Amino acid sequence: MLNCRDVGTNATEFLCGALPWRVNLQVVWHLIQCGNCRLAVIQVLTMLRALGRRPAKPASEEQIQAWLAALRHEHGPHDHDHSH
Ligand SMILES: [Zn+2]
Repeated sequence: MLNCRDVGTNATEFLCGALPWRVNLQVVWHLIQCGNCRLAVIQVLTMLRALGRRPAKPASEEQIQAWLAALRHEHGPHDHDHSH
């Protein structure tokens, strides 16, 4: 498991999509559980956008929205029902 310091260290790479997916998943998992890191990552995201940074391999807008939605919901790994 990542701790808060690991998440802080990896926040920029996380948002740039530069982390291996396994680590990425652990960061997301930590953010779902940790309000402090959630705020920190959102701040970094806001800052990157404000700076107009173009990371080499940016996370897509869709991906970022999905992360933010997941973070806001704080539901954890609950399976949603896909029935039509
Ligand atoms: Zn944390």
